[in-house]
Amino acid sequence: DERIISPAPRDEDIEEQGLRPRSLNEYIGQGKAKETMSIFIEAAKKRGDSLDHVLLYGPPGLGKTTLANIIANEMDVQIRITSGPAIERPGDLAAILTNLDTGDVLFIDEIHRLNRTVEEVLYPAMEDFCLDIVIGKGPSARSIRLDVPSFTLVGATTRAGLLTSPLRDRFGIISKLEFYDNNDLAEIVTRTAAVLDIEVEPDAAMEVARRSRGTPRVANRLLKRVRDFAQVRAQGKVTLAVAQDALKMLEVDDMGLDSVDRKMLLAIIDNFDGGPVGVETLAATIGEEAGTVEDVYEPFLLQQGFISRTPRGRIATNRTYSYFGRDKEKTEQK
Ligand code: ADP
Repeated sequence: DERIISPAPRDEDIEEQGLRPRSLNEYIGQGKAKETMSIFIEAAKKRGDSLDHVLLYGPPGLGKTTLANIIANEMDVQIRITSGPAIERPGDLAAILTNLDTGDVLFIDEIHRLNRTVEEVLYPAMEDFCLDIVIGKGPSARSIRLDVPSFTLVGATTRAGLLTSPLRDRFGIISKLEFYDNNDLAEIVTRTAAVLDIEVEPDAAMEVARRSRGTPRVANRLLKRVRDFAQVRAQGKVTLAVAQDALKMLEVDDMGLDSVDRKMLLAIIDNFDGGPVGVETLAATIGEEAGTVEDVYEPFLLQQGFISRTPRGRIATNRTYSYFGRDKEKTEQK
């Protein structure tokens, strides 16, 4: 995935760990999720309990992993990080759970990708902190029950609807992360600049923010590219003009759209008469998988009103037509 605006993690995001805020106070934006978490954390601490299981959902790059780390920090426990596809067998899960200390956070990214047998072992672990493990094969097989330390599962997924309902029902706290507004993103850009020792003028931070698709991961990535540009062209200082030139070179426009977005949106208008067109077909126009379009690229376009979802597929909106300087009526009559 070569797109600079992709909210999915890329190799160049390696120093992400160092950029992550460590406490709820440092976590910018997401007022609702933050408030929910701080109340539950405080209550659990007062009771001396481990925190209830937490499900975080929302598009990639919005801060789910960061929030999981913060939860562990605030609860003063360790975090163990894994992902749905990485836990292949029930034994893998048993090994992870039995190695936790009481109260620890287990973070499972892409939790919707857990396989069914593992998921079923997870249910009693979440509910009663025990595992039912089958030992042996055939007629001599028997099931033993194993206690595990009480722990907090923090699951992350792009859409809550991807989880089976028995799994979803076992989370006491379900929190949706939203796209960030430009002020929050500018604050994140400024914070990252301070951590990485980059000199950024406030209007330049806002310029980067506006093109970051509501996504901190994209904002941090664009900032680093702009910094590179500034080092070569402007002795390292990121001014508004430097930011604009750099972003122009990166072909990320004023709205955060890149050439692939434009290609996809134009396809709806020109090839499918404004839609509706199925997501599979749409994905094919840009050589992507439907799942990637749906979970990674489309959410921002939907939120910004460039695409609208109907039962028969995606349609271009008035905003899309005017973005391309097209007249909707004329285009339709053509
Ligand atoms: P996700 O797990 O949702 O894909 P991450 O938690 O990995 O997203 O966040 C991606 C990057 O964005 C990280 O480098 C993190 O530091 C930054 N980030 C995310 N949310 C915030 C926030 N609220 N405040 C500051 N930085 C953030």
